[in-house]
Amino acid sequence: TTGLLCYCRAGFEPDLAAELGDRAAQAGVAGYARANRGDGYVVFPGDDPAMAARLPWRSLVFARQSLALFAELRGLDPRDRITPMLGAIEAACTGVRYGDLWVEHPDSDAGKPLSGLARSFGNALRPALRKRGLLTPSADTALPRLHVCFVEGDHVLLAHAEPAATAPWPLGVPRLKLHADAPSRSALKLEEALLALLDDAQRARWLQPGMTAADLGAAPGGWTWVLARHGLRVTAIDNGPLRQHVLDTGLVEHLRADGFRWHPSTPLDWMVCDMVEQPSRVARRMGEWFREGWCRQAIFNLKLPMKKRWLETQRSLEAFVESAGGAVEVRARQLYHDREEITVLARRVAGA
Ligand code: SAM
Repeated sequence: TTGLLCYCRAGFEPDLAAELGDRAAQAGVAGYARANRGDGYVVFPGDDPAMAARLPWRSLVFARQSLALFAELRGLDPRDRITPMLGAIEAACTGVRYGDLWVEHPDSDAGKPLSGLARSFGNALRPALRKRGLLTPSADTALPRLHVCFVEGDHVLLAHAEPAATAPWPLGVPRLKLHADAPSRSALKLEEALLALLDDAQRARWLQPGMTAADLGAAPGGWTWVLARHGLRVTAIDNGPLRQHVLDTGLVEHLRADGFRWHPSTPLDWMVCDMVEQPSRVARRMGEWFREGWCRQAIFNLKLPMKKRWLETQRSLEAFVESAGGAVEVRARQLYHDREEITVLARRVAGA
């Protein structure tokens, strides 16, 4: 099998499959995805080697990673998995030299127990690849990366990736540790959003000390705390209480108000919103913020407790852009720390 291999949160395979089907059709590629609920990955079969480049990780909502699948090996002999793998790599990738090797497994009930095997197998495969000149002596992100994904002990998917166009974390999962001071686990969501939805240069430019922000639905203060740690001055809107140490930063003003009604009197650099409400209602209100010019950029969550999440995602994002009056750039992603929800970064585009 060749095609596209994407990882996702277990249970969201039908959503990712629907997304890939629509996106491929828009790109003029026919076909449909092979997806089983709970697998933690989806394969979109096809022989177009540019498929992964057309549907890069950054452009997908439900994919944690997007890779170019070049071989699938089943029935591997546990006594020697390396020989057939080297054969498949040399057959499919003549002349390629990889800059790194990641041995992975789906983030699923069936995949997680394979993490020990993946680690030890990686330690065995790495020198074998180097001996044949297939892998550089030390990691080189200018070269493609080889992915070996164990689906079962005797069943692997082989794929490659351009480091610049793919998620920079094994399994597509950023390992973030909850800071002891964080008021809530939600803090990790905003931290991950800033990592996954902005690149390094954008983070440095768009998120600077002294900037202003509003946090709608702020209690107990996780997102507000993350913004304050970046040196932003935050107006935190919630009828519930914020943790005292968040207020003690001196950067935070807490207002007990309705997050669907409150707006600033002067434009802010950022607005973030984590209110639990119907996604279409949140999306329209977020759009109003842009239409009225109350913020330049925003990060907001859309809760998706329903079945057809890809459909709802499309509808809500369309409602957002329409309500904003166009001229906004939108990136959306189901983060590792997102459960039944996605996180959206929106930004007014120049000239608007
Ligand atoms: N982002 C927060 C954090 O990191 O700690 C967690 C937010 S929690 C998921 C949602 C919050 O939205 C609740 O504290 C709730 O009181 C607030 N909320 C819900 N509807 C609201 C509204 N209409 N106006 C203001 N706050 C609202």
